[in-house]
Amino acid sequence: MASTENTETANCLRCGRRLTSADSIARRYGRSCRAKVVAASAAADIADFKPAQLDSARELIEDGAIVPLRGLVFTAVSSDGTETYLSHPTNCNCPGGLKGRRCYHQLAARLLLAA
Ligand SMILES: [Zn+2]
Ligand SMILES: [Zn+2]
Repeated sequence: MASTENTETANCLRCGRRLTSADSIARRYGRSCRAKVVAASAAADIADFKPAQLDSARELIEDGAIVPLRGLVFTAVSSDGTETYLSHPTNCNCPGGLKGRRCYHQLAARLLLAA
């Protein structure tokens, strides 16, 4: 699978602003955007999800492992880093998502869209 990830600089995944601090680059979000993303987990519609999934979704976001693709669709990296899924707030093509389960990728997409 081709990678387009080998950039030295980075832009905030939420607002697109150039990130300058190493910390922000590692997190893929500027400070204020990251705060909004974290705060969104309180506001987003997460009633369908388990608390452990919320933790996983937050981790996914903090690792920069879920990236906007287009519209409501995100690209999410699997927990072992070997697969990439297309995730949407209400569906996902990971193994669980394909079975109609609510996976934490969907939850992460919701959180990002609510931010
Ligand atoms: Zn930003
Ligand atoms: Zn999924």
